[in-house]
Amino acid sequence: MASLPVLKYPHQILRTMSESVLKVDDGIRRIVNDMIETMYASPSCVGVAAPQVGYPLRIFVIDVSRKIGPKKNHGLLAMINPVLIYAEGEKITKEGCLSIPDFLGNVKRARNVIVRGLNPEGNEVEVLSQGLEAIAIQHEVDHLNGVLFIHRVSSLSSDLVRRKITYKDIKT
Ligand SMILES: [Zn+2]
Repeated sequence: MASLPVLKYPHQILRTMSESVLKVDDGIRRIVNDMIETMYASPSCVGVAAPQVGYPLRIFVIDVSRKIGPKKNHGLLAMINPVLIYAEGEKITKEGCLSIPDFLGNVKRARNVIVRGLNPEGNEVEVLSQGLEAIAIQHEVDHLNGVLFIHRVSSLSSDLVRRKITYKDIKT
């Protein structure tokens, strides 16, 4: 496994529609494992989509348990060809993205979702999700369609904020 470099906005791959995976084989599982390692390499990261690491394929990995503990989520979730088949409710959350490291934005998402796709063994799975995990799923599925959270904020002037600059971030 290897942690991969994350592409930054405005890289072209981040704006393209990713392709469906035709066959879940060892090559795909290797990509999934590298995405998992990439996610865990960044302490605040709760999800990675394949195009963020240079593969325009419909794959995401999510683990919100590192942020909110084991309650009300599925821990590590790796999904291939995910499709949102149900969305319900509304919630505005401040989102960030490894590909847009300097900004956070207020984004309106569904509160609960059901996503269907394949697991890394190639079996169909269906996941009912809520809270931060449901938001992460919607954020990652957007990535697979070439959509970033900055395209979801209703006002670039009031809903997009610069991340606080900490002493560590200051470069001379
Ligand atoms: Zn993102």
